[in-house]
Amino acid sequence: SMNRAWVETDPSAVVENARAVRGLSSAVAGRPMQLMAVVKADAYGHGLGAVAAALDPEVDLFGVACVSEATRIREVGATSDVLMLGPVPVGDIPEVVANGWIPVISCVSEARDYQEQMECQRPGEEMGVHVAVDTGMGREGAVLDVAGELIRFVREECAGLRLDGLMTHYPSADDDDDFTRDQTARFDAFLDALADEHGLPPMVHLANSAGLLTCASRHATTVRAGLLLYGVAPVDADVTLRPALHVKARVTLVRDLAPGSGVSYGRRFVTEREPVTTVATIAIGYGDGYFRHLSESGAEVLVNGRRCPLLGRVTMDQIMVDVSELPERPQRGDVAIVLGGGAGGDEITASELAERAGTISWEILCRFGSPRLGRIVV
Ligand code: PLP
Repeated sequence: SMNRAWVETDPSAVVENARAVRGLSSAVAGRPMQLMAVVKADAYGHGLGAVAAALDPEVDLFGVACVSEATRIREVGATSDVLMLGPVPVGDIPEVVANGWIPVISCVSEARDYQEQMECQRPGEEMGVHVAVDTGMGREGAVLDVAGELIRFVREECAGLRLDGLMTHYPSADDDDDFTRDQTARFDAFLDALADEHGLPPMVHLANSAGLLTCASRHATTVRAGLLLYGVAPVDADVTLRPALHVKARVTLVRDLAPGSGVSYGRRFVTEREPVTTVATIAIGYGDGYFRHLSESGAEVLVNGRRCPLLGRVTMDQIMVDVSELPERPQRGDVAIVLGGGAGGDEITASELAERAGTISWEILCRFGSPRLGRIVV
């Protein structure tokens, strides 16, 4: 509902950003690239249903983290292929096989589990799988020494599995260009050797948002974009993006406090303004995904389109902001914007909140996936 605090998602912005990302990644690579839309964590807090439905005609496949996300994509009628980006917990493997979602395989025992499930669920048939190679992330994939053997095993000893793709992942694409270039070169060299011996599968992917802006592998066919789709750039980039998430909350009280009044837990802010400080209480807090670390960080909130400073600590359900300088006194029921805005007016960006809260834009977006917030699609 829009009575208290809510998220507005703009799927048309995500669609525009997806087209920009496809163009950009193709320009950097010097050939047309396929686009995998990374929509895990409820599409980075935007609401997976609306995002998947809007993106379905625009993308080649979806990347998710878990079976509930893959299920949601199908529930809204989206039909693009779905890739399970991380290792699937053993208990969820039967569901992945039953639904034809594409797993990423990192080791022989995982390959055997899928092979076994195919034998019992769909004997005589084949399912597509991708193999992950660990070139520096240290999270999933076969390390380079054994990746060739894993690929051979999947191709030659797993009759139910068809190798459709190879992937690796960048740990430092947003902060270490030298490492990322070297990592890309190592993966490309591995693929060169594989191509000579046995050929490559139809899909090769490694770049996340920062990677697709800064680096190109000569073998990559596909990019895996998350953050950029949502209109947030992880590194400086010459690209126009439209943020797709706006987080809004109601002003619930407007009060005048005399000088010397403490505001919020710990009384870390004490009013000084003469004759009064006008304080608006706003119905959003850390229980809704508004980071408590924004307390005393210089964070600002838009009230009636203008920036107003946050006062004192963020509480579980409410924040207080100084509205003394506004040309008109706000009213109960007015709308405050804690993320987003734009449309000609001022804007609070995810990057700005991330810097102030001491975290990353990805986490700012994800936390606003809180089930406590109302959700509307605009
Ligand atoms: N690929 C993998 C394997 C990921 O885990 C993620 C997200 O964390 C992405 C791609 C997308 O990253 P980004 O949001 O930086 O584009």
